[in-house]
Amino acid sequence: MINLIKKLTFLVVCGVSSLLIAQNNTEYWQQHVDYTMDVQMDVETYQYTGTQKLVYTNNSPDQLNRVYYHLYFNAFQPDSEMDARLRTIKDGDKRMLNDDGTSRITNLSPSEIGYLHATTLTQDGVNVTFNEEGTILVVDLAKPIAPGAKTTLEMEFKGQVPLQIRRSGRNSAEGVALSMSQWYPKLSEYDFEGWHPNPYIAREFHGVWGDFDVKLTLDKKYTVGGTGYLQNPDEVGHGYETPGTKVKTKGKTLTWHFKAPMVHDFMWAADPEYVHDVVPMENGPTLHFLYKNKPELQKNWKDLQPKTVAAMEFFSKNVGKYPYEQYSVIQGGDGGMEYAMSTLITGERSFGSLVGVMVHEMAHSWFQHILATNESKHSWMDEGFTSFISSLCMNQIMEQNKENPFEGSYKGYYALVKSGKEQPQTTHADRYHLNFAYGIAAYSKGSVFLSQLGYVIGQDKLMETLQKYFEDFKFKHPVPNDIKRTAEKVSGIELDWYLTDWTQTTNTIDYAIKEVKPEGNKTKVILERIGLMPMPIDILVVDAEGKQETVYIPLQMMRGEKDNPYPNLDRTVAKDWAWAFPTYELIIDKPYDQVIGLSIDPSQLMADIDRENNVWQAN
Ligand SMILES: [Zn+2]
Repeated sequence: MINLIKKLTFLVVCGVSSLLIAQNNTEYWQQHVDYTMDVQMDVETYQYTGTQKLVYTNNSPDQLNRVYYHLYFNAFQPDSEMDARLRTIKDGDKRMLNDDGTSRITNLSPSEIGYLHATTLTQDGVNVTFNEEGTILVVDLAKPIAPGAKTTLEMEFKGQVPLQIRRSGRNSAEGVALSMSQWYPKLSEYDFEGWHPNPYIAREFHGVWGDFDVKLTLDKKYTVGGTGYLQNPDEVGHGYETPGTKVKTKGKTLTWHFKAPMVHDFMWAADPEYVHDVVPMENGPTLHFLYKNKPELQKNWKDLQPKTVAAMEFFSKNVGKYPYEQYSVIQGGDGGMEYAMSTLITGERSFGSLVGVMVHEMAHSWFQHILATNESKHSWMDEGFTSFISSLCMNQIMEQNKENPFEGSYKGYYALVKSGKEQPQTTHADRYHLNFAYGIAAYSKGSVFLSQLGYVIGQDKLMETLQKYFEDFKFKHPVPNDIKRTAEKVSGIELDWYLTDWTQTTNTIDYAIKEVKPEGNKTKVILERIGLMPMPIDILVVDAEGKQETVYIPLQMMRGEKDNPYPNLDRTVAKDWAWAFPTYELIIDKPYDQVIGLSIDPSQLMADIDRENNVWQAN
């Protein structure tokens, strides 16, 4: 009897503990790493050495036997994967190609290549085995990291800054000495999907959240800007000092000490000819502008400053309050790229283009540097959402007053569909056949994901969705389902179909007015679904007296309805359309000869690939 009870108890305990493990696995968790780095840069040879101490907390439910680091600068070497890709992709990035179309990486000499190597590495004081595989360092740990445990990884590293090829590097086309992004040994992220040691082939990043403490020592003539809060402004000066302070420096070099709380990347740039303007915002961060001291740049870069204030206010109001104390707009890099608390942009542009690129990169502070999606897997969530909110911002701060600020994104998407080169947005950012297909899937189709969601759930609900998404997922790694669930909670509409068809397939939307005919003293309209992707339908009806009204046909699987998007017009809510039926009969309560025009989706926010068949006019 006692044995039987023991056995039963054992079974019960077993049952309970496996249940606990199962629960643990489904709860959200994320890794944490605190970086302390001390780096010496030689501005003559562009070589640098550094020490790095990582305190890594394993918040996962799993024991870890390995860790991976990214060594991005190794991409800038002849015969790297980045070079191979550049030589083989049909539409290579022009910035990375010579005039004859060959790869610029192939031609780099040993003193021009980039590299980043670990020279020593210990875990809690014990040497560990590490092996470099291109841009990834594979580390077999000395002892496993248990769930919930911390470990300290200490590394000595050496690097060489490549000639500017892409994003980072030395001596950019505009003459910026050092654009230092993707420059340090960066711990790869481990999340609910496992490790993400993506080789650096072309684009997109994913990192571990944590606090950075970085000391940079270099020639004292150089002005430095980037991620983080400068800890010793009165020692380094260069425009950071308390106004009125006389800064005295000794020796040939200066050590800049930055701290950046809760970020997942750290960028810096330096040049001996930077102008540095400081613009403190009321109830906001302090803005820093660093740009080359060339006469032709001065006006645009001064005029950029109030626009930067306006953009910061726009995003803080419409998405969520910017949580850091500083933001820096820095001339550098090769176009525009977002970093924590900062951006590198090229500066020799027309004013409109300068504001446009600043707005786009700053918007990434929200959609990547606060809401940190895994860009490699879901580039549409950072590039697309950024494009969406920057279109709205530009429309306001540049007084563009466009009726449809997203028109360019729709045009791009239609061109992609027409080209036959579309791949689903679930494609890894490096795995598109063409850069063109990646660009449109990520930026344009990603932006349309949101503007079209506004059509499905209503514009107010869309903006409410973005704000709730920000509040619920800031400083985390949201995934596609998170934006969908947020929109569902805000709108009360089921959206599984929307996320699935739009992001995981290349299904297209095409609804048509097939036939319009009299039906007694009413009018019968036969609508047709030609494309595979389902959508709810708004129809504008214009009668002989010029009166306009709308009919709304909810999609049955939405299990809900949006509010009237045109409050000034009468709206009739017709019966639901169940997707599998290719046609739908709508009865309009007006005699046939009184109906003079019909139009599906007058807002043009539904990405219908054939708009010709959306309109009907009486003869
Ligand atoms: Zn972007």
